[in-house]
Amino acid sequence: MKQTKLTKEARGRDCQVRIPGCPNDTETTVFAHYRLAGTCGTSMKPNDLQGAWACSYCQDRIDQRAKCELTRFDLRLYHLEGMVRTIDTLTREGKL
Ligand SMILES: [Zn+2]
Repeated sequence: MKQTKLTKEARGRDCQVRIPGCPNDTETTVFAHYRLAGTCGTSMKPNDLQGAWACSYCQDRIDQRAKCELTRFDLRLYHLEGMVRTIDTLTREGKL
């Protein structure tokens, strides 16, 4: 994925998704876009505020690559709350 000024901010950050068991491995943190009908699709990608800083543990669960007890709905909520925390941090730092 193409990195932008905002998505680059994810590097080395605390994981904001925090799915139970999250090790907060900041070395693996990247910006994980939140895909939502109407905001992204074949010719449209989500904007760079629509997503959360997520460690590889949480990304694997959000993308359903790793087995997880949580429902898809719960995982969406974790991702969404992570997005709110990410935007909050960027706002506090005066980067938005
Ligand atoms: Zn995590």
